Amino acid sequence: MGNFQVDKNGFYGEFGGAYVPEILYKCVHDLQDAYLPIIESEEFKQAYHQLLKDYVGRPSPLYYARRMSEKYGCQLYLKREDLNHTGAHKINNTIGQILLAKKLGKTRVIAETGAGQHGVATATVCALMDMRCEVFMGATDVERQHTNVERMRMLGAEVHPVRTGNMTLSDACSEAIRDWCCHPADTFYIVGSTMGPHPYPDLVARLQSVISEEIKWQLAEKTGRDYPDYLMACIGGGSNAAGTIYHYMNDERVKIVLAEAGGHGWDTDYTAATIHRGTTGILHGAKMLVMQNEDGQIQEAFTISAGLDYPGVGPMHCNMAKQGRTTVLSINDDEAIAGGYELTRLEGIIPAIESAHAIAALGKLHFKHDDVVVLTVSGRGDKDIETYLAYKK
Ligand SMILES: *Cc1c(COP(=O)(O)O)cnc(C)c1O
Repeated sequence: MGNFQVDKNGFYGEFGGAYVPEILYKCVHDLQDAYLPIIESEEFKQAYHQLLKDYVGRPSPLYYARRMSEKYGCQLYLKREDLNHTGAHKINNTIGQILLAKKLGKTRVIAETGAGQHGVATATVCALMDMRCEVFMGATDVERQHTNVERMRMLGAEVHPVRTGNMTLSDACSEAIRDWCCHPADTFYIVGSTMGPHPYPDLVARLQSVISEEIKWQLAEKTGRDYPDYLMACIGGGSNAAGTIYHYMNDERVKIVLAEAGGHGWDTDYTAATIHRGTTGILHGAKMLVMQNEDGQIQEAFTISAGLDYPGVGPMHCNMAKQGRTTVLSINDDEAIAGGYELTRLEGIIPAIESAHAIAALGKLHFKHDDVVVLTVSGRGDKDIETYLAYKK
């Protein structure tokens, strides 16, 4: 089996790298040189794990879902990232990056956000660490996700509506990079997923890897074996998926199944199924699979799930899918909604619509009764209640 980790030039096979404007060259290179020594230092690990425990509420439970196991004929365990402070896995990453920003002596933080979940997680750690915070968000999303905008403002962040392009996540990323170019010396860009120029995909994957680190000992405790037969997660940019699989990437006993957002169907114009539909291109500083037309114009992603609404996907996942290490399924809006309702009714857990894509993928697999399946519930569904209700006609 191949090696799926990043190489020393920041590539995963043909994907990744750091395609940044000249003005950011020094800033990105400084980060490339600094991130590993810092995040592997005892001082960092101590502060990071203390906050994950006392502030985020980790370890997140690994929950045996009895009724869902019966339904799907397997032994299903849910990794409950929905129980984290701020309601999703994103805080694992922002806690780590704010510690890194502090260590590098930065005084201002910027971030991009789509649905607002990463913006809220960033504004939260900036409040915690007394750091100035500015968040770029597409003007369309500012309207669609008003509660999260209010949360960010309440936390003390400044939210900049972005009015270029489709006025959604992809445009917010471009605007954040533009801002970074203007303030490379004092500003730290907290990237929200396993995307962006090297070292971000690797940095974010490592910070999220606490998920599979916990799965290892939690599974051993519950089943006597520290690996599952299947790992499952939803995939947008790829951070909760990266965290879920990190310690099992090279373990051939473990099958990996990821669910991307099909929207109305991966073969329609209304989709965010980038691994099914994308072709190689460069977006936001890295080479990856991108939904684009023949002229390289980025095509807008479409899905009911704001957190999966991105026309690209992180380079680590592009490579793993291409090498055949992961199986990527496209889950349509209606299937995800049904999956969300099912988990709610069978287990009393309302998942984020993003996570509901992974739930819906269960029905597309054929398990043996004793197969151990670990599925990451990346976030809670409180933010999505209106969408769930609107869809249930
Ligand atoms: C942002 C988000 C996602 C998608 O992002 P990844 O980086 O692919 O994990 C998935 N689930 C929830 C709850 C989110 O907030």
